[in-house]
Amino acid sequence: MRFLATCVWGAFLCSCSDPGTLGASQMERRELGMIDYGRTGESVAPYYVVRPASAAELSVVVVEAHRLKKKLRIRGRGHSMNQSSLPRKGEISLDTSGLNYYEFDSPGTVRVGAGVPMTDIDELVRGYGMSLPVLNDGGRGPSLGGYVAAGGIGRGATVHGGFWANVLQLVVVSGSGEILVIDRTDPLFPWFFGSMGRLGVVAEARLQLVAENQVTQPYPVGASGRIDVRSASARVDADENLFWLTVFAPVVDRKRLRERLESLMARHSESANFTEIYEYRIASADVVAPLVYPEPGEFAAMGVWGSVRPGGERFRKLFALSDAIDHLLREEPGWRRYVQTEAVRPSFDHLEYFGPRVGPVFALLESSLDPHQVLNPRN
Ligand SMILES: Cc1cc2nc3c(=O)[nH]c(=O)nc-3n(C[C@H](O)[C@H](O)[C@H](O)COP(=O)(O)OP(=O)(O)OC[C@H]3O[C@@H](n4cnc5c(N)ncnc54)[C@H](O)[C@@H]3O)c2cc1C
Repeated sequence: MRFLATCVWGAFLCSCSDPGTLGASQMERRELGMIDYGRTGESVAPYYVVRPASAAELSVVVVEAHRLKKKLRIRGRGHSMNQSSLPRKGEISLDTSGLNYYEFDSPGTVRVGAGVPMTDIDELVRGYGMSLPVLNDGGRGPSLGGYVAAGGIGRGATVHGGFWANVLQLVVVSGSGEILVIDRTDPLFPWFFGSMGRLGVVAEARLQLVAENQVTQPYPVGASGRIDVRSASARVDADENLFWLTVFAPVVDRKRLRERLESLMARHSESANFTEIYEYRIASADVVAPLVYPEPGEFAAMGVWGSVRPGGERFRKLFALSDAIDHLLREEPGWRRYVQTEAVRPSFDHLEYFGPRVGPVFALLESSLDPHQVLNPRN
């Protein structure tokens, strides 16, 4: 891990004690309700919004937030289902959409700011005859930083492994404002995937690219710029009844997992209109992300999805489904679920869920990288 700077003070820094006046263009007070894709809750007013445009600015924001005794709630594109990006009363919503830069500075890779939607990165590199090995399903969903915070599975993972296997380097700002450059060989690296913004704010990443078939375009060395992501990130277009719940399991358990999901669907048919069970495999990789699925080797991702039946009590029905998955996992301790992004109750205990092997290490990393609990504090 390389240590770049403890904090970068500059014009961005303001000595005011009210964050509402902390550099007028950087910090805004908001009353309007903010939601996420799951729509199970809302932000609590008043809160503040800040939109740094570089890792250096981000570092200043984190340091200043701590000095002002304010908590930061990191917000990518609000495409999670569990209220994790919604600012609580008095918190500062850290909008990552200003981290929208890119640079092609090393063949076969691209360096991108964490606020850019994954699909926009793919579109950018496709213009040069390359593509992202792993990409989310479901259209213009997560930002790069949000995808890391969740873990990252999707198209291409069956061949290339999870997102963690396709990132070469992360630049992260810790809860103390330190700018950390973390290579994929660093033991800390895999812990950021699925860490829900609790170990640091992802500022940028260097991504592995694959060449598209038949394309012989030269690598666009030196090409750089910014991608306008703001207009789309302000809105969360969601079918409010849509849900999906994913279980990760060893490949040998696939048959049993499918049977158990079918039985769950039968028991909850009054709560939801289910579509067919989805399934794909996540290829074995040299990097294992302990917070997503702690066992080495290939694993299966299988889940139920559909829409909660209309007619009131949406939350009760949704959380009943989520509880049913939790119950399943209690009976199958080797199985995991995608807690980082899907609907879990606000009271969900992540450390207990991670279990005695992973939970204590995560807690230790949290206390060393964010000693003052400035970032995404627990409720
Ligand atoms: C339509 C749709 C399709 C999806 N498809 C897939 C898929 O195929 N595969 C998959 O794995 N997931 C998928 N997801 C889930 C998605 O990847 C996660 O919910 C992801 O966290 C959302 O990213 P976001 O930028 O919207 O983050 P937000 O929802 O804004 O935030 C989610 C969490 O990440 C934290 N966070 C956000 N940015 C950062 C950052 N820069 N640094 C640190 N923490 C940060 C937030 O604080 C919060 O805790 C999908 C979601 C939707 C709505």
